[in-house]
Amino acid sequence: MAKIPGIVYVVLGIAIAWFARYVDTRTENQGMILFFYAGIVLIAIGVFKTITKYIMKDTEKPEKETNISEEEKKIKETIQQRKIIMCPMCGTKHYATSNYCHMCSTKLR
Ligand SMILES: [Zn+2]
Repeated sequence: MAKIPGIVYVVLGIAIAWFARYVDTRTENQGMILFFYAGIVLIAIGVFKTITKYIMKDTEKPEKETNISEEEKKIKETIQQRKIIMCPMCGTKHYATSNYCHMCSTKLR
């Protein structure tokens, strides 16, 4: 169950719901209504899985690969341009005029 992609649920759900509707309209009874709802549930699960997968991709990958290096570049740039120093203990950024880290009270100079 864990490795089935969300799109499979959506396709399966659409197929089941469509089939149930099709049978119901042809036979003119509500015998397949449970299958129709089961199909809707499958679609919902599939959409949920797909969305969560995209959210996980969006949040996890950039943090591990691109964001850190870009952040480091930005920090280095601000240090060079505005004379900002970083706390050696907790990494908090401070103006070079600060004597103590306001986060952990480490002496900065
Ligand atoms: Zn600190």
